[in-house]
Amino acid sequence: MSLPAQSDQLLPKLRAGCAALDLTLTNAQLERLNVYLGLLLQQRGRVNLTAIRDPAEAERVLLLESIAAVVAVPGLRAPAGGSAQTRLLDLGAGGGIPGIPLALAFPHVDVTLLDATRKKVEFLQHAARELDLANVSALWGRAEPLAHAPAHRAQYDFVTARGIGNLATVVELALPFCALGGTAAVFKSLPIDDELEAAVPALEVLGGEPPRVTPFDLPALPARHGVVTVRKRSSTPDAYPRRVGVPAKRPLGEK
Ligand code: SAH
Repeated sequence: MSLPAQSDQLLPKLRAGCAALDLTLTNAQLERLNVYLGLLLQQRGRVNLTAIRDPAEAERVLLLESIAAVVAVPGLRAPAGGSAQTRLLDLGAGGGIPGIPLALAFPHVDVTLLDATRKKVEFLQHAARELDLANVSALWGRAEPLAHAPAHRAQYDFVTARGIGNLATVVELALPFCALGGTAAVFKSLPIDDELEAAVPALEVLGGEPPRVTPFDLPALPARHGVVTVRKRSSTPDAYPRRVGVPAKRPLGEK
């Protein structure tokens, strides 16, 4: 049974932030986002899912910031034309940020959560079951080999990544998963002028357009956080990503 009066009290910062984004979440969505936050904070001690302990801070920095990706990736809002499903890969999803809040806010988006740590993937599978998330699947593995598998290479409209490394490294892992015309959306602390410049050679090799930086412009969020988006304009050569660990150890273009 839903309890609308209660839901109205839930997650006030998230609701205010979403209103500023011109997004309205239903009570059922708010209830599930609240359950997810509870699961994340409850299990954070067992597996290193997030450094944040305070529920109000987690609401803002984890839930709202995830959903605020929509300012940089407006294509998340509406179902894609025709019957094609919108597919999103969350690369290095950890405890599910930003993939799970995005899956809850945009139920028409099919979300694949990928992480290299088995315990995290077990948490993600548990959370997806508890939340009855039909549009989420969780995958255990490294991005480097998976990006070469036909089931995943060039299959995604959007690839999100938060907290997994410098831009040149992340685009080498993310762009191979993107379909042509798809977008990699990398959450970053701003400014990142040095990283942007360092990523230019990588983007040229990998088939990415020049990056765009979209700062979060919401009262509840720090202005120094934002999303860097890179659209894939040509297919990524088969040599990329390189072997496990190489994109992080020797970012493309580094002298
Ligand atoms: N996106 C989450 C987690 C960030 S921590 C958040 O913002 O809270 C980075 C995560 O990326 C870790 O869980 C780590 O296991 C995963 N990761 C790092 N490199 C990876 C790779 N090459 N393939 C798959 N997962 C990777």
